[in-house]
Amino acid sequence: MLIDAIVIGSGFGGITSAALLAKAGYDVLTLEAASELGGCASKFDRAGYRFSAGATVGMGFEEGGMLKKLFEELGAPLPPMKKLDEIMNVYLPDRTITYFSEKEKWYKEVAYKFDSDQDRVFSFFEEVFKVSKILQIFVEKRNIFPPSTVSEYFQLLKSMNVKLLGLAPYLTQSVQDRLSKYGLTENKPFMTFINGQLLDSVQTTATFCPSLLGYMALSIFHKGAFYVAGGLASIIHALAESYRASGGELRLRHKVVSIAKQGEVWTVMTKRGQVFRTKQVIMNAPIHNVFSLLEPELHQNLVIKEQKEREKDAWGAFTLYIGAEPSFMMKETSSIPFHQFISSYDSPLSEGNQFLFSMSQEGDTKFAPPGKRSITISTHTNVEKWWERERYENIKEEYTEKIIDSIDKKFSSFSSKIDVKMAGTPVTFKRYTQRAYGKVGGFIPSGKYSFLKSYSPNSGVEGLWFCGDTVFPGAGSLGSSLSGWIVADAIKGKHPEGDM
Ligand SMILES: Cc1cc2nc3c(=O)[nH]c(=O)nc-3n(C[C@H](O)[C@H](O)[C@H](O)COP(=O)(O)OP(=O)(O)OC[C@H]3O[C@@H](n4cnc5c(N)ncnc54)[C@H](O)[C@@H]3O)c2cc1C
Repeated sequence: MLIDAIVIGSGFGGITSAALLAKAGYDVLTLEAASELGGCASKFDRAGYRFSAGATVGMGFEEGGMLKKLFEELGAPLPPMKKLDEIMNVYLPDRTITYFSEKEKWYKEVAYKFDSDQDRVFSFFEEVFKVSKILQIFVEKRNIFPPSTVSEYFQLLKSMNVKLLGLAPYLTQSVQDRLSKYGLTENKPFMTFINGQLLDSVQTTATFCPSLLGYMALSIFHKGAFYVAGGLASIIHALAESYRASGGELRLRHKVVSIAKQGEVWTVMTKRGQVFRTKQVIMNAPIHNVFSLLEPELHQNLVIKEQKEREKDAWGAFTLYIGAEPSFMMKETSSIPFHQFISSYDSPLSEGNQFLFSMSQEGDTKFAPPGKRSITISTHTNVEKWWERERYENIKEEYTEKIIDSIDKKFSSFSSKIDVKMAGTPVTFKRYTQRAYGKVGGFIPSGKYSFLKSYSPNSGVEGLWFCGDTVFPGAGSLGSSLSGWIVADAIKGKHPEGDM
């Protein structure tokens, strides 16, 4: 039997493609290696708690937001969630910044916390908001980028307008270049704050971050950040429900081990030896995995080259999953779900010096028993050291202690309120999400032009597509889902019956 499309992986990208294609009437099979859906946005249950495996902050659910539109397109109800006014507390070594969603409140906070530079900071954010509003028009077009075929170039040109063309000068600048135009680069607390935000969203700091990418990231909380009941896994499950309701088939614990092509037909083989045949393969495993899955004869036809991919950097994550009683925080503070800790201005914003602490909210019984909270903590880490067997347990202990000490410094009774504590490392991520070496979060932008060097969802080989955070538009649940939508659009356009 020839299946219309096979999706490999049920992360944000894969499940988005699968749900949209099934809704459009395609016969779709999704193969997922793990026993849980969602990859980096999945969940697991231990000792009476549910823990978010990685992703926690919801974005794109506001009116007109991409994920809100996706649910509308699917005719599916959005899971319960709360739009946050106070999104996050950022604890810098000498001050706490509350990230307000509403612009007026945000400007007041900025004026108070960065008072010596408040006018420059205002002007910088005004530019961020203005530019990202224009960019949003481009993002909404769901173009394949970078283009490689005549029709992709044509679509891209068609979506250009005068306002977008006016952004051309930003293409050759980093966020750091723009900040230096505003005279802000010497303001250490402000730069650390900006770098912390950029690292969490686009995986790099102002120096290496293309300005357009950085501006989109820095404006996103002001469009809307959300606390989703039961975590982002609830979104994945709602998309999977829509997919199944449209007739899509989903098989968990089905790891794909090889993808080959004979003529027009792709064969996808699982670890159990099952073979499935299809005309379209959508690979939601990251680009880091592509060369080990795809038959060697096809490597040369790919737009992506193996050596270049290996040279591109990506982070790993060290995570702590903690079940605790929340009285270590004041009630007002514990009603803010997200807390970013930065311990030192003088160390890199990774390896435990910077981490995101996400806590389930009071009454969210999907996450924790009454009176308790589920906490996921994550810090960026270099993957390499985690593959040295002899050092593994020691580093794990060292990072656990370092992070818990930092929290204890802010909330002195924290460690005494812990019920359950587990650590996750790049080795854990490799095991549960299949991501090669445990690399997560997409590629690290390497400079002002790296935006133009993104990998396209179109593999260059007829019938093979990529989606997820390693292809355009990249990082995060929102970017991954959008790439899945772009792929579904492209397949629908190519389907013999056209848009069904
Ligand atoms: C610690 C951490 C915190 C994060 N925080 C946030 C956040 O707060 N907000 C946010 O928006 N984003 C966040 N992100 C980023 C976000 O989680 C990811 O970018 C996004 O979920 C990636 O989706 P994806 O489509 O690339 O798929 P992935 O999450 O990589 O999932 C791919 C799926 O494919 C499956 N798979 C892989 N290979 C095979 C195979 N051979 N056969 C079958 N199945 C296979 C995997 O098991 C997995 O389920 C965070 C990421 C991490 C790691």
